Amino acid sequence: MFIGRKTDKNLKEFFVVYGIENYLYVDHSIDIDQVRLLISDIAPTSALSVDMNRYNILDNRISRHFVFNLQKHIDDDGCVKKIAEYCFQEYFTDDFFLWNMTDGEDEELSKKYQKIFLKYKHLMDIEYYNPIFKDVTKVLDEEKTWYECPLCFDAWEDKTINEMTECPKCKKIMAKPQFVKDYKI
Ligand SMILES: [Zn+2]
Repeated sequence: MFIGRKTDKNLKEFFVVYGIENYLYVDHSIDIDQVRLLISDIAPTSALSVDMNRYNILDNRISRHFVFNLQKHIDDDGCVKKIAEYCFQEYFTDDFFLWNMTDGEDEELSKKYQKIFLKYKHLMDIEYYNPIFKDVTKVLDEEKTWYECPLCFDAWEDKTINEMTECPKCKKIMAKPQFVKDYKI
């Protein structure tokens, strides 16, 4: 899934969605009209959960790396709280995964979670067309399995269904030209 928004300065910001949380309950103490999306900004290991209402969905396909989880707990006042979540498997092994990764005091745990997050971030960054990465490869054959890097001119074979590919030599992530789209926000 891919989202975007216009900033106050009318610049376009694009984000890959690395997780989705849908709050399925009514509670007056917090603003619950919310689907929250896990995105990353600033540094690659920084992730944050944002209110979906502030963004436009540009590509609504769900990641192949998501699994589904239903969190359910009953409050002291009997209010049943459910959160339907889609994220990578390891995210659900710890109720405070995001907190422990970004703000937790356990440095070792934080590093461990950052490594897991970076692994999935890469997989989801290359999964669907992603204009955060500006470069586009050349296609060298009719079957569209051989690509050439416009920066270092290395060529490689990529038979995956990913819409982005990574140059094995200069490690740049770039789009396969047959998937390039023009996203209007
Ligand atoms: Zn290259």
